[in-house]
Amino acid sequence: MKILVPVKRVIDYNVKPRVKADGTGVDLANVKMSMNPFDEIAVEEAIRLKEKGAATEIVAVSIGPAKAQETLRTALAMGADRAILVETDDEVEPLAVAKILKAIADEEQPGLVILGKQSISDDSNQTGQMLAALMGRPQGTFANTVEVDGDSVTVKREVDGGLQTVKLALPAIVTTDLRLNEPRYASLPNIMKAKQKPLATKTAADYGVDLTPRLKTLKVAEPPVRQAGEKVADVAALVEKVKALGIA
Ligand code: AMP
Repeated sequence: MKILVPVKRVIDYNVKPRVKADGTGVDLANVKMSMNPFDEIAVEEAIRLKEKGAATEIVAVSIGPAKAQETLRTALAMGADRAILVETDDEVEPLAVAKILKAIADEEQPGLVILGKQSISDDSNQTGQMLAALMGRPQGTFANTVEVDGDSVTVKREVDGGLQTVKLALPAIVTTDLRLNEPRYASLPNIMKAKQKPLATKTAADYGVDLTPRLKTLKVAEPPVRQAGEKVADVAALVEKVKALGIA
């Protein structure tokens, strides 16, 4: 079984994003970029399934600028077998990503597509669900545990108040949640080996997908600055303060 793992290049999760002065978006100039953390978990899960003998090949895919090659090389260094970069400098919305992934899945015929549950850049949490709908395949989102057994996959899903277990017929779409696994670090020898692994470069037009956005960003603003707190001497003073606010 082949596993397709879409990986997105996003601002590193340790970096505090800066909003552009004109409010049109987030400033990406000289900012450290990395693989979306949920996608690292997806790559790790695919590798573990391969190590268990449930998968034979892992194909990493990224849709983004030429620099997204670095993200794909990271996936290859972790253990993916080959990569496909669909190169574009445009902002790509989840529906367009899902359409490209569907076209790639039609070509590659993976048994599983494992995506992150959301990209920390746009927090959309849409691509996996849209892909499942476009492909007419079952989906196990917010995966906490993934077990492949013959022609089905059992996914424990993180839902409010607990875990929901679903059994999906393969081919299927899975999206990863935070507790699914702890991704490995790529070792130096594997980083070197990854440079030799195949990486194909394509365009959206190769897959017949139009990237024209359907949404218009009206404004991006910093979150409001938190007001400073105030220390009170004792409980009586606190009660007076709360009364003065009219909430008690
Ligand atoms: P989103 O729906 O944007 O929150 O993204 C959910 C998941 O879809 C991500 O964790 C990735 O696995 C995948 N994805 C979204 N955008 C891209 C992209 N440009 N390239 C590759 N994978 C993507």
